[in-house]
Amino acid sequence: MINPFSKLGISDDVVSAVKDLGFENPTPIQEQSIPVLLEGNNDFVGLAQTGTGKTAAFGLPLLELIDFKSNKPQALILCPTRELCLQITSDIKNFSKNISGASVVAVYGGANIMQQLREIRNGVQIVVATPGRMLDIIGRKAIDFTNVKYVVLDEADEMLNMGFQEDINDILSTTPDDKKTWLFSATMPPEVRRIAKNYMDSPVELTMGTKNTGNVNIEHEYYIVRARDKYAALKRIVDFNPEIFAVVFCKTKMDTQDVAEHLIKDGYNADALHGDLSQQQRDKVMQRFRDRNMQLLIATDVAARGIDVQNVTHVVNYSLPDEIESYTHRSGRTGRAGKTGVSICIVNSKELGKIRQIERIIGKQFTKASLPTGFDVCEKQLFALVHKVHNVEVNEAQIEQYIPRIMDEFAELSKEDVIKRFASLEFNRFLEYYKNAPDLNSSADDRGERGERGERGERGPRGSDGYTRLFINLGSVDDFTRGDLLSFVCNNGKISGKSIGKIDLKGVYSFFEVEDATVDSLFNNFKGVEFNNRGVRIEKTADGDGGGGRSRGGFGGGGGRREGGSYGGGRSGGGDRRSSGGGGRREGGNSGGGFRDFSGRSREDRGGNTGGSGRREGGAGSGDRRRRS
Ligand code: AMP
Repeated sequence: MINPFSKLGISDDVVSAVKDLGFENPTPIQEQSIPVLLEGNNDFVGLAQTGTGKTAAFGLPLLELIDFKSNKPQALILCPTRELCLQITSDIKNFSKNISGASVVAVYGGANIMQQLREIRNGVQIVVATPGRMLDIIGRKAIDFTNVKYVVLDEADEMLNMGFQEDINDILSTTPDDKKTWLFSATMPPEVRRIAKNYMDSPVELTMGTKNTGNVNIEHEYYIVRARDKYAALKRIVDFNPEIFAVVFCKTKMDTQDVAEHLIKDGYNADALHGDLSQQQRDKVMQRFRDRNMQLLIATDVAARGIDVQNVTHVVNYSLPDEIESYTHRSGRTGRAGKTGVSICIVNSKELGKIRQIERIIGKQFTKASLPTGFDVCEKQLFALVHKVHNVEVNEAQIEQYIPRIMDEFAELSKEDVIKRFASLEFNRFLEYYKNAPDLNSSADDRGERGERGERGERGPRGSDGYTRLFINLGSVDDFTRGDLLSFVCNNGKISGKSIGKIDLKGVYSFFEVEDATVDSLFNNFKGVEFNNRGVRIEKTADGDGGGGRSRGGFGGGGGRREGGSYGGGRSGGGDRRSSGGGGRREGGNSGGGFRDFSGRSREDRGGNTGGSGRREGGAGSGDRRRRS
């Protein structure tokens, strides 16, 4: 049988490479655009969502059209973000792995330019670049584009959103007039239309789905809650979806950081991704997310652009985007490569108008969903656990030695009793946590605020005997060692190092213990402290926050440390990759059907207010970093 990619005109070397990647059939956009682009003499506009396979849609024809005997740049692919740049480069390298002499270079900001210049000097045929760095290299006269035959503008709408219009003009002016331009965009605002008009000659236009329409594999839902209940609603949604692997979008960097920190403190496996993190920090966060060692990625629109992570189950719009069109980009993080996904909006009743606007733009109706009750969550988690137990892989060799003792212990009990007890171990805790959990749903005309009860952990902070455990929003991603943290806290808090107990260094945050008698003085002195222009704050943790290796009765183990139980239930041994402190956060532990330790939930559970945080980065406007590539 002829391979479907061969039928489209792709050569054997490339077909065999895409087969190795598991591509059996072309996606609709590949099917339609490959034959057109292979002709090599058309300008082209492809209106397609991310995740539809558009990299191969332009990448495969490029490989057929390029002369790999020559070492001169013949194709230039411009894209908005470093992440996308790396992704496209890696995809094209994979597609071209059997072509001898093929060379692709990634050109992007925030990385060593000398290395990129070296690669260019060595000779490349395909340059994948973000506009800012590309212009820098052109300015150094370090690249010759006179042989460029194809320019691809990927995610053109995003590049324009990010203010790259002028840079693109400047870059394109260094390429020959007779080159062909292929433009891909998820949406077609007038600015993109203008690019098509200015740079292209009667382009062939292909639209996958309706213009500006969301991916058909994505369901759209909204929940109406009071503004103050947003955070509790988010947690309820996560709790009700034990297998969730989601990107949660917030509007500002501050919200992103706050929501992530509160989730982390509440025992969720989350982290923040926003523009105030260094590139290295962002890479680390993304790597953990890609590796499924993190379950909830809390991100700003800009930071999450171009992210291609497989099998994202949900996108949560914790706040709706200002630009309605950003919604399409957000929801496009799920439902990728033919998978289904759910895009959720948590809104208050005043925001319903915006939902209707989005519906009009994406041409799809939202489903109004109700937040599950506490009991619904308990039931869902219970059965997730039951399934997990049913499917767990037993290590016969290791467990065998304990079986006689275990059997002995249960000798008095029937099978049913054992099962009941075992399930109750967590179910009781769940019921306890969710008893009195309020109905978080708000009706469309509900403007009032109700009192709150239940669903909040009322316990105070607890450390080792005589110590109080504190949270600090600094960690190994800030290049802190335990020693650094110790001196930072002692210097700024004007306390002696002797009063510090255990230090549990994490990624973007850490925990440390302070003698009870010193806590007040530390809090009094530790005011207005900054690190790298960022507010640093310390807080008392809720009971047991962060695990820290102490037994928290983590579900499925009954013994606290959940480290290693990686997301998805299928893998083991993930662990906290960021942690250099050896402390025991429950990375991944609450996914795959495992229960979270609800006894440790903090007050904010019900507050909806994730505030009180120290990060005050509001100043650095996105405008500044927009042009940074
Ligand atoms: P893209 O829109 O290019 O970012 O692609 C989205 C995802 O779909 C990527 O992870 C690709 O590896 C995957 N993909 C692209 N084309 C195919 C195909 N024909 N079959 C299976 N997966 C594909």
